[in-house]
Amino acid sequence: MKRLRKSNTKGAFSLIELLVVIAIIGVLVGVLLPALSRARDFGRQVACLSNQRQIGVAIRMYLDDHRGEFFHHHEGWVLDDGSQVNSLPMSLAEVGGGGVGHSEAEKPWVIFIQPYLQSRDAGFCAADPTPRSSAVATTLTEYNGAITDVNQTLPPGSELAIAERDHLTTQSFLLNSILSHKSARYALEGALDGFLNDSRGAGLQPASLAILAERNSEAMNAVDNNAFGSVGQDDFDAWVGEAPLVRWGSEAIGYEDEGWIRYNRHSPASNFVYLDGHAETRSWSAARSELFPDRRVRQPLLNPPL
Ligand SMILES: [Zn+2]
Ligand SMILES: [Zn+2]
Repeated sequence: MKRLRKSNTKGAFSLIELLVVIAIIGVLVGVLLPALSRARDFGRQVACLSNQRQIGVAIRMYLDDHRGEFFHHHEGWVLDDGSQVNSLPMSLAEVGGGGVGHSEAEKPWVIFIQPYLQSRDAGFCAADPTPRSSAVATTLTEYNGAITDVNQTLPPGSELAIAERDHLTTQSFLLNSILSHKSARYALEGALDGFLNDSRGAGLQPASLAILAERNSEAMNAVDNNAFGSVGQDDFDAWVGEAPLVRWGSEAIGYEDEGWIRYNRHSPASNFVYLDGHAETRSWSAARSELFPDRRVRQPLLNPPL
């Protein structure tokens, strides 16, 4: 019986075959990677929506326990520049500014809803790439020493003091400040006569009135954005107009094309929570009017993001 002699290359790859295999693997990786990265991005978007739903439920519970009213930052009427007056100005010509004090977040929503949320993790978006606050607080004392005025010094060991020092993100979402402030402009324009609460919100289609948007933490926490950056910023004032929401002006060197809200956190869209407690992914063009109580965009941009 004659035995076939095996050639010494049989069963092994020739160099050409090896190169072909490598090329095919390369093509497969090229085809699969974008799909994998889309899947990863979609996973983050869904995880963010899940966090926002928990927050939406927690805010609803807070409102239900407090006769439909959220906590207040200030009791005065807020003017466009963030300062306050005790009595409502007589005309729109007077709402630009010049009141006393300033509207800043010494009352962080993420801490105020902790009794209902029982989680700080839910306050972060998986697609927010900025470094997070690690010593997360659940009480106001741990968070900022329970200061009652933004001019007070933060205790050095408090979460906010550390976050400000190291430029860390304490939450990935911004509250629509009509819940915690009463805008003089909105009152005089007939859009909202006081704080947004359930009784005033009932006539404003709660399912399409956005109360939480994604925070532009990259720009707000940046060391070189003195004009608009603020580590402690946790709300947005839509009554000022569309520009500060998504397009700061020329004062923000290097950040002109951004704003408080990261409208494309889950590119090309972003996630929003609504007054009825539900959360949704929306493009800026779809969501922009939903931040205003009467759905009228104040000072609309000529070329807003899509
Ligand atoms: Zn305030
Ligand atoms: Zn998100």
